[in-house]
Amino acid sequence: MSAPQLTAVTPEMPDLEAMLLAQKKAYMADPMPDRATRIRRLDKLHNALVDNKARIIAAVSKDFSNRSAAETELAEIMPLLDGISYYRKRLKRLMKPQRRHVSLTLMPARVEVQYQPVGVVGIVVPWNFPIFLALSPLIGALAAGNRAMLKSSEFAPATGDLLKQIIAENYAEDEVTVVTGGVEVATEFTKLPFDHLVFTGSTQVGRIVMRAAAENLTPVTLELGGKSPVIIHKDFPIEEAAGRIAFGKGINAGQVCVSPDYILCPRDKVNAFCNAFSESMGKAYPSLQNNGDYTAIITDRQKARLEGYLKDAEEKGAELITINPQAESFGDSRKMPMTLVIGATDEMLVLREEIFGPILPVVPYDTIDEAIAYVNDRPRPLAFYYFDWNKSRADDVLARTHSGGACVNDTMSHVLADDIPFGGIGPSGMGHYHGAEGFRNFSKAKGVVRKGRINATAFIAPPWDNFMFNSLK
Ligand code: NAD
Repeated sequence: MSAPQLTAVTPEMPDLEAMLLAQKKAYMADPMPDRATRIRRLDKLHNALVDNKARIIAAVSKDFSNRSAAETELAEIMPLLDGISYYRKRLKRLMKPQRRHVSLTLMPARVEVQYQPVGVVGIVVPWNFPIFLALSPLIGALAAGNRAMLKSSEFAPATGDLLKQIIAENYAEDEVTVVTGGVEVATEFTKLPFDHLVFTGSTQVGRIVMRAAAENLTPVTLELGGKSPVIIHKDFPIEEAAGRIAFGKGINAGQVCVSPDYILCPRDKVNAFCNAFSESMGKAYPSLQNNGDYTAIITDRQKARLEGYLKDAEEKGAELITINPQAESFGDSRKMPMTLVIGATDEMLVLREEIFGPILPVVPYDTIDEAIAYVNDRPRPLAFYYFDWNKSRADDVLARTHSGGACVNDTMSHVLADDIPFGGIGPSGMGHYHGAEGFRNFSKAKGVVRKGRINATAFIAPPWDNFMFNSLK
């Protein structure tokens, strides 16, 4: 492997190159782990998650300065356990070489695709679901027979430290390892010549990461951000839509890559939507400041960014509806009430930037074609949500829009469906994990032709003058 230019090894800068070399060496000693080995590796993760559930919940809550146990269990631990059991059950089929068509010129032969592990996968993790987004790609990488190095987020340090400890307790360093640290470590990490690199984070940093990977021609999976729209059809009951959307938007206080980012609402239903959404949020979170169910914003910087969006919208003439502000003072707390933004325009940050927090612009539309055009005029999002009981109309809308994934009459639940690929498109990312597509994402699909004892080339070999092509002259 060619040596990347790394900065000096310091207490903050681990010897990343040595770690990768050790993993590559260990991988080459067992380049095609059998099913039992892969299952053993997955089972270790399963048991570690079950045994350390309380510690994980506490660490995540510490990083957020408050996140409920239920949210961490539902959105981080449970989907990981499901993902492990998914691959456990299907590994035999996924690992089996696939027979393919044999063309006449190749006969007799056997033609197949073998799914071979690529080697060592690097995984860069964001802060918002610091366990799920670290281990979900890891599950796919391990199922496909790889080793992995993870870089946790500096903005979720308690979770990063715990993850490092849990992984070290369960895996040899040359099998799976976790690196902690800030941007300097992340920068050097992404310069390593991994066999595959998964980056989950912002589109802006995704560009930097892809450039670094290009130096090594390392294939990348980029799980990026974007503005995931919701369209509500005029015939869909608005209270029902508002309730379902409020459930999704409330999770992690909107700090989710697939959180509904803005609503395209039939013009005459905007008021009804705002009232029903406020009521649903109020029921789910009757208070905010002292409510352990409502997650705080991860850092002061993120909170200032979100407050800046609201200030910008208000100054430019939008109306803000703050839900459940109560009499409580939010003081130094990093909690932020959910705020609807009415009358937002394209000049406002709330419609230009990914929100990634408890703010929801409601944009009126007059015809469904206009709503679809609004979505299609903007960068392709990570997720798209459409509310309509009419299946053929919903299929038509899905066919006319592009997004990484989609839900009809729901938000975000496609991430939890372990048998479908998860990933973005265009500026919201490339590549997938989850499902058979995830297994293949971390494998090399190697095309193999096997010849037997009968050598047909004896009949199609030079001298070409004797050959049947002559009949075409
Ligand atoms: P971020 O891009 O700031 O950071 C993500 C990771 O990249 C961190 O581990 C960080 O240390 C590292 N990093 C930062 N600068 C780097 C650099 N110059 N070179 C290499 N690595 C660097 O993102 P974030 O703030 O942690 O997360 C929020 C963003 O992530 C949002 O845009 C959100 O939509 C996106 N996201 C996407 C998904 C998905 O599955 N598509 C999931 C969660 C979050």
